[in-house]
Amino acid sequence: MALIDCPECATDVSEHAERCPHCGYPFEEPSGPDEGGVVLTDIDIGFNDWAVILLKAGLAAFPVAIIAVLLYFVLTIAGTALVGGIGG
Ligand SMILES: [Zn+2]
Repeated sequence: MALIDCPECATDVSEHAERCPHCGYPFEEPSGPDEGGVVLTDIDIGFNDWAVILLKAGLAAFPVAIIAVLLYFVLTIAGTALVGGIGG
């Protein structure tokens, strides 16, 4: 259990405490679901989260690469057949 310094009276207080037991200074809940605002800790993304994000981005880009390769082959084969038909 980590302790934080109360900004009001500098007493060591549990990080889970909603208020300083010494002076009653209210602490913000780091991950309270009722809080509407975005807290800085919410965007503290770890390495695993980045890996998941990059994996999802890669999966999202994968069909585009497949379509591009298929288009390339279709156009190449069609173009070759067309040229062959005209030439032959
Ligand atoms: Zn205090």
